[in-house]
Amino acid sequence: MFKKLDILDEKEKVLREKCEDVVFPMSKDDKKLIQRMIDHLTNSQIEELSIKYDLRPGMGLAAPQLGINKRFFVVVHEYEEGKFNNYVIVNPKIVSYSEELIYASTGEGCLSVERDVEGIVPRYARITIEGFDEHGNPVRFRAREELSIAFQHEYDHLDGILFYDRIDKDDPFKDEDKMRMI
Ligand code: ZN
Repeated sequence: MFKKLDILDEKEKVLREKCEDVVFPMSKDDKKLIQRMIDHLTNSQIEELSIKYDLRPGMGLAAPQLGINKRFFVVVHEYEEGKFNNYVIVNPKIVSYSEELIYASTGEGCLSVERDVEGIVPRYARITIEGFDEHGNPVRFRAREELSIAFQHEYDHLDGILFYDRIDKDDPFKDEDKMRMI
């Protein structure tokens, strides 16, 4: 039986804190939560289910958005129409990144931010990220484009950073011409 998650709003203090490393083995509760994050994100990207369960579409969630001050996040990426890859990354480290910067043409959104924020959020076009899955097995992913943005967005949450912190307040479209729009 699917039960939607209570996602914290940007005003909550836990969203501004630096999260703590996870010590393995992960608790049963945390593992259960990870499965619920996957289900929530997947359903939110399937139109029929997003309507049925009243879910805002989103591709990523980080633990602090659910009130958990720990370093892990989940990304559910629709790589082809109706086909999803799940990424669970615990204690992530971005081990390399491209020089090239990109930004999302539609701006970034966040399930904790219930308003549109205009402006450019500069992100690396390609990154390599390492960490562990929920069982403690090492994982390593190379991501580009949309998936690279999603990983960087979620990684930021673990340091208490929200996407609009990276938008220039005086000039939200600053350096537009120095980055590639995707
Ligand atoms: Zn977010």
